Amino acid sequence: MRKKIVAGNWKMNTGIKDGVALVSDINKELKNVTLPSDVEVIIAPPFTHLTFFEQVTDRNKINIAAQNCATESEGAFTGEISAKMLKSAGCSYIIVGHSERRAYYNETSDILVKKTEQVLKNNMTPIFCCGEKLEDRKSENHFNIVKNQISEGLFHLSDDDFTRIVIAYEPVWAIGTGVTASKEQAQEMHAFIRDIVFRKYGKDISDNLTILYGGSVKPANAQDIFSMPDVDGGLIGGAALKVSFVDIVKAICQ
Ligand code: PEP
Repeated sequence: MRKKIVAGNWKMNTGIKDGVALVSDINKELKNVTLPSDVEVIIAPPFTHLTFFEQVTDRNKINIAAQNCATESEGAFTGEISAKMLKSAGCSYIIVGHSERRAYYNETSDILVKKTEQVLKNNMTPIFCCGEKLEDRKSENHFNIVKNQISEGLFHLSDDDFTRIVIAYEPVWAIGTGVTASKEQAQEMHAFIRDIVFRKYGKDISDNLTILYGGSVKPANAQDIFSMPDVDGGLIGGAALKVSFVDIVKAICQ
């Protein structure tokens, strides 16, 4: 069954006290929402918040994710946090290869291959991000960029492992800019992604792949974007930092 997902990426925002207050309010608001069996809600707070979130959220309603993980399992890697630690902190998803990490922390496909492997090895789901920059779209190179990111980062996986992947298409020009891809642009790229996955892994796996759209999704535009047949939900940045994030969840439930 293809899952629908609304995932909030809090990035490096909120302190522990206000973060816990916000997730508690979201949790309370979600009590009034009946989630269909194919819908999941995910929140990815900063690492420091994870264990508190595990205590205050209803895990039937909110899955906890991390925004990143180390390439290695354990050892002398000062400042790093392993997938195994994140699993023990209650995470079931980890975001891999967000464009901010690719751009500011030089995360290459080789690094993302290792991170994805760590996430899968520890029985969590990678949310693998891809997306082109504005200049790539202007030069009509956007399909090539996304195809390369996905093939370099994921196409070494076995069929079994690939069924455990979620892909988030996030055009860099739409992240945090207030500019959203049109629903047609989102659909076009999602259909393209599903097609390259179909060519590599076949119909069953491509039909069941969850592909999220990310880039300035908010309550006002969520339903429009989610109405497209290959858009299976969203990865939400700025709008995930408000209780009205729940309105985006409601949009996927319709
Ligand atoms: C993101 O960072 O994943 C994102 C989609 O951010 P925003 O919703 O703020 O554009």
